[in-house]
Amino acid sequence: MTALDEELRGIIAAEGPITVERYMALCLGHPVHGYYMGRDPFGAAGDFTTAPEISQMFGELIGLWTLEAWAGMREPRPVRLVELGPGRGTLMADLLRAARLRPAFVDAVEVDLVETSPVLRERQREKLAGAPVRIGWRERFSEVPDGPAIVIANEFFDALPARQFVRTDRGWCERLVGLSLDGELAFGLAPAPTQGLPPGGRAGDVLEWPGAALETVNAIAARLAALGGAALVIDYGYNGPGTGETFQAMKRHVHADPLATPGAADLTVHVDFAKLAAAAKTLGARIHGPVGQGAFLRALGIRERAARLQRRATPPQAAAIEQALVRLTDPGPRGMGDLFKVLCISHPHLRELPGFARAPNVAESLA
Ligand code: SAH
Repeated sequence: MTALDEELRGIIAAEGPITVERYMALCLGHPVHGYYMGRDPFGAAGDFTTAPEISQMFGELIGLWTLEAWAGMREPRPVRLVELGPGRGTLMADLLRAARLRPAFVDAVEVDLVETSPVLRERQREKLAGAPVRIGWRERFSEVPDGPAIVIANEFFDALPARQFVRTDRGWCERLVGLSLDGELAFGLAPAPTQGLPPGGRAGDVLEWPGAALETVNAIAARLAALGGAALVIDYGYNGPGTGETFQAMKRHVHADPLATPGAADLTVHVDFAKLAAAAKTLGARIHGPVGQGAFLRALGIRERAARLQRRATPPQAAAIEQALVRLTDPGPRGMGDLFKVLCISHPHLRELPGFARAPNVAESLA
């Protein structure tokens, strides 16, 4: 039993079953026992691997995208570069290295890292120690100082807690986490339906409500529409009217039971891009995409970038670069090319940006 397991049982015994949203929030963000609070979950020895940890190409291309976004914004000085959930700081380190192509950008930029985990903040501090920019850490997006901004979020939104509702003959009933007769954590349903959800649905359908993700997107969209800038949201997700159960746990790179080891496995929900895009539009922002991660990276020139890196690599290094390229862009179930999507939210007047529609390939500029 994990320490959080015991605490959860106590809460449920005292207050009754809790929502999936609260369960997820406690498992990931409990100040002492939360999954992200006390560990570095990435890499072969951890529970999962993310795109920036697969290859430097990912962060570099996002760096070039950032320079284009800044140019499209007419190069405001200062400009804030905000990353939500920066993990080990790898994406930001690769991004800033590529951004040195425009010294004026490096001079103008102020970096804000929005991170709740003390362990990962420390990793970020170490990784970015030599970066020639000012860096501040924030608990939440609302703490980022005013001004035009470029916001990057890779595998951040899938970690934000969501509610779940199951269609019954009484209506949509909220899924709860309670205790089974033998005292184990178990899913159940609220007896009374929740009002105000869309009609329709078939018995057993699951509807997810990403409240925290919508709140964050609303804050980003309102800020960008008012003060200028662009945000790049990259995540595992779908773009369509969605019902379906996507709440899942990952432990040591395989799927796990989300109730089995609370606080010791990563919990995620797939990102509902259509819902986030619609919310951002309502607040006056412009939407670009979503496009598949593969299409996005190819449009930025990942193939050319890989070929350039391979030219000065040993044969085993060149093979590893090829493998990373496939993993980041392949549309099949083994690659991230279609499963991961990229959405850009911007000021309404910001022009077309690379990676979306007919914008130019920018990788040629990197040495
Ligand atoms: N972007 C990184 C890490 C993704 S994992 C990468 O691609 O490798 C999710 C990250 O979000 C972690 O850094 C985690 O600590 C952070 N995080 C999770 N929930 C958060 C929240 N509510 N507020 C701020 N950061 C959060």
